[in-house]
Amino acid sequence: MHNPWRSQLEKLEKQARSLETTPETRATWFQQIQQHIEAYLEGLPHWPVREDQAEAAAEIKSWGIATQGQELTDILALLHRTLERQGLKPSSGGYLAYIPGGGVFPSALGDLLAAVGNHYAGFFYGSPAAVRMENLLIKWVAEFLGFDGEAVAGNLTSGGSYASLIAMHTAREAMDLQPKDQHLAVVYHSSQIHHTALKSLRVVGLSNCVFRKIPVDAAYRLSAPALRQQIEADQQAGLRPFLILCSAGSTDVGAVDPLADIAQIKEEYGLWMHVDAAYGGFFGLLAEIKPLFKGIEKADSLIIDPHKGMFIALGTGMVLVRKKEWLLQAHTSTANYLQDVISPEDELSPADLSPELSKHFRGLRMWLPLQLFGEQAFRQALQEKLFLARWFYEEINIIPDIEVGPFPDLSVVLFRLKPRDTEANPANEALLKFIQADGRVWISSTLLDGGFYLRLAVLHFRSHFEHVSHLVELIRAFTGQTASAKQSNLPQKLT
Ligand SMILES: *Cc1c(COP(=O)(O)O)cnc(C)c1O
Repeated sequence: MHNPWRSQLEKLEKQARSLETTPETRATWFQQIQQHIEAYLEGLPHWPVREDQAEAAAEIKSWGIATQGQELTDILALLHRTLERQGLKPSSGGYLAYIPGGGVFPSALGDLLAAVGNHYAGFFYGSPAAVRMENLLIKWVAEFLGFDGEAVAGNLTSGGSYASLIAMHTAREAMDLQPKDQHLAVVYHSSQIHHTALKSLRVVGLSNCVFRKIPVDAAYRLSAPALRQQIEADQQAGLRPFLILCSAGSTDVGAVDPLADIAQIKEEYGLWMHVDAAYGGFFGLLAEIKPLFKGIEKADSLIIDPHKGMFIALGTGMVLVRKKEWLLQAHTSTANYLQDVISPEDELSPADLSPELSKHFRGLRMWLPLQLFGEQAFRQALQEKLFLARWFYEEINIIPDIEVGPFPDLSVVLFRLKPRDTEANPANEALLKFIQADGRVWISSTLLDGGFYLRLAVLHFRSHFEHVSHLVELIRAFTGQTASAKQSNLPQKLT
């Protein structure tokens, strides 16, 4: 019998094979990419941390989608003009704003290897080594934070926000909070809790809970006595204390809540304790920070961002849940077409622990840098960041016109010009603009108790003394403390 499909297939196969590359093409592309990356990394310290030419970035749009294949050299030139030179540069050591991280080079190589093999990291059955690798990383983090590595389960996510989502969903399921009781359930947090923790409660449908803002102390740490008082009052009022959200390094000021006291309270009253360690968590690798983190291992759920404190490229967060059954029960699902997928007892699969089925194999971008540099290199870099923040605090503390925020628990320092006879905020906005216009370093601002503060956040593997000391020079120059002569000593403006 004549099968009509065969005759068409020959021609189509020839065309479809253009999606495969030859060794020669790959060698050429690798070489071009390598040259491009070297030029990028060489140029990076000389470019302003933020560039803003909207029309240059818009070229991406006018370039459109190619019908026929384009030359890689042209594409790389386009990316340089648009992507690499416009907007913020989180890869720059001068990036001292928001929460930095950086993007250590081997995380890019990990992504490359993960994508070439396209390993399926959802089920152990698909890639036993990929799943083992991710579980190993989760266990490593759990153990340096003091959790029982055998009891804990976790998941590598796209970031802290997604990790929070998993944690909040798990909290609701494990605490058996039914929709009809939601209006009685109470959530406790301070003014310092990250907005994404509250957002994740909204996303999982828990916005009808009762929210209690607990006061903070002078260092912006949640007040444990006030928490206890509020929980008791709520219990007496017939409400159901449900969840405590706390921070191991708040984004605004880097404050670490009194985790041991909070853990004590949550055990006494039977609440779920969630720790947001997205920013601060990796400082737990340092012996000197361990006492500050005491109690963190009692958390029922925790989030931590390898794309911050481990300096890997954006796109990797992690959630830990103290008992693996909780995470498993909240996420396991199955299907007929998955009947051949067999999971062993001893290695949990990411697809059973998160909403994702197919997922990016994130483990390799975290594992490869750890293997190439060794854990110790990360400890040393984190120690350096801590000391840079402390050095900065001491330096600006002695500038007469500057008022500093609390001594940094970790690596965030707040400061501002003292209000004199002028309004403080316009002057501080001017100082911020002055620093940003220099281009070599970039910081951001925040509001604390309604007051405008400038904010240094050191957590980039490329940020060193030269960056932080340059910031101090800029502040000195602006406050006029060193007169105009000093200002001309500042390095040339970047172009
Ligand atoms: C960054 C951050 C988050 C959110 O994490 P993403 O990775 O940006 O989604 C949550 N909490 C804190 C304290 C953070 O610093």
